[in-house]
Amino acid sequence: MAGTMFPSSVAARDTSPPVLVITGASRGIGAATARRMAATHALCLAYRTDEVAAQRVLDECRALGARAITVQADVAVETDVITLFQRAETELGPIGGLVNNAGVVDVAERVEDMTWARWQRMFSTNVLGSMACAREAVRRMSRRRGGRGGAIVNLSSVAARLGSPNQYVDYAASKAAVDTFTLGLALEVADDGIRVNAVRPGIIDTEIHASGGQPDRAERLAATIPMKRAGTAEEVAETVAFLLSGAASYVTGAILDVSGGR
Ligand code: NAP
Repeated sequence: MAGTMFPSSVAARDTSPPVLVITGASRGIGAATARRMAATHALCLAYRTDEVAAQRVLDECRALGARAITVQADVAVETDVITLFQRAETELGPIGGLVNNAGVVDVAERVEDMTWARWQRMFSTNVLGSMACAREAVRRMSRRRGGRGGAIVNLSSVAARLGSPNQYVDYAASKAAVDTFTLGLALEVADDGIRVNAVRPGIIDTEIHASGGQPDRAERLAATIPMKRAGTAEEVAETVAFLLSGAASYVTGAILDVSGGR
């Protein structure tokens, strides 16, 4: 089972593909990760609003060989997260991994102009949502609780170390929280058979920039990136796949930049 997330001793006993939950799988990095993992994993594709887009990703993953389901779940709503993991387990089997990908930005503003409602949306999605999903995954994967171990990959951002002044300092702060959560949780569950890592994308060409009111952001800022181009969702998915895989069996608490040097 090289390339999957379970240690070889477990894989030898159970040849069914590990179950991977991916949040925000309807588009962008989440969808690319789903396609990348489809040949080797059973997939629970969580989406918030766009059922048609989620169904399209589901069809692509099934065509690539995956047993897969879609589940509508807003990660900012705790009961949605609990139901998401219950359904993943009931309909696909024991959970072996999580990609905490769902995340939001907002329009460019100075901190002095930001509203409480904006911060609540930002933090309940990017931070509380990621923490709640990780909690549900750990409860099921932890060897201490009878689970088989597994791996979690959190989507952070280089904004966590750049601070994103005059853009979205709140987004940067939420991703810094994801970094610290990654480190702390990794150490907490290292002895329970669970690896926890993060990927910090730079400027990746997805629809997230349009949702922040800057549809041309990736193209406009390409020249400022050391590699002189934006990244692709597929390039981020490759790093996520590495961190989930047996090739990263001794990697935990790591935060990998996928940013073209930015
Ligand atoms: P994207 O194209 O905007 O896609 C975001 C996905 O997350 C969508 O499927 C969206 O679903 C989902 N989502 C948003 N809020 C959600 C919620 N409350 N509950 C469940 N799902 C929710 O974004 P992306 O560029 O692929 O980014 C993916 C991750 O990488 C995010 O965490 C982002 O912060 C991070 N990242 C991206 C970049 C970049 O340049 N693209 C850079 C650094 C970090 P709906 O469509 O239904 O809302």
